[in-house]
Amino acid sequence: MAPKRGKSSLPRNVASLRRGDERGNDELQAPSAAAQEVIAAHLAEHGIRALRLARHVYLGGERLESQLISWNPAKASFHCLRCPGFVFGTGEVTEQMVDSTLLWDEGVRPFLAAARTDEERREIARAYRSGELQRELLRPLRRRQRRRPAAARPSVEHRRHSVQAWMLARYRLRGVLARVIEDAIQLWRTQPKEWAKLSDRAPVESTLRRYWQLIPDEQVAAAKATYHACLQAKRRS
Ligand SMILES: [Zn+2]
Repeated sequence: MAPKRGKSSLPRNVASLRRGDERGNDELQAPSAAAQEVIAAHLAEHGIRALRLARHVYLGGERLESQLISWNPAKASFHCLRCPGFVFGTGEVTEQMVDSTLLWDEGVRPFLAAARTDEERREIARAYRSGELQRELLRPLRRRQRRRPAAARPSVEHRRHSVQAWMLARYRLRGVLARVIEDAIQLWRTQPKEWAKLSDRAPVESTLRRYWQLIPDEQVAAAKATYHACLQAKRRS
């Protein structure tokens, strides 16, 4: 006879496969509170408002007709008689999942090199299996990405668009970019309130040139044509 397993020993579901004589010995380990919430949400889709474990979840013994849910404690997953062919995960990581991750999953191996104890190995495998480890790794990367694209912020974009529109209008009168830039600096010096309507920053030549290069060519060409047309009209008159 096999020695009796202690209460904390690993695969209680395995014990359930070797059907004992007494009821209760072959009962599956019940889903955790969090897993029960996932099951309850699933049953709600079938119009079942309140989950009652004994009534809706099969955990061993005679199966009731109302027990739509079969629970798999090893994988913290379930299937549902009304949804044949589907296995639903609960997002939990069980000890058995940690075991199999350590045994079979190639992806976790590079992370395990840093572990000093077996408990650390299990902790890493658990975090890996839940995806927490990968999220942690990406966190500094995401933070950097959020900081980088200042140009994509709406206020920056708005400032660029209004300055570009003003530059095009000036270009129709002046015909030369260098003059437009001089005008911008002049406007900022002499009428700072007018300039502030366009931008909350002082005009800098390199920035203005960059803004100018971002204006579509046809718009620049049209402004240039307007400048020449005005010039000719002035000469004629
Ligand atoms: Zn279902």
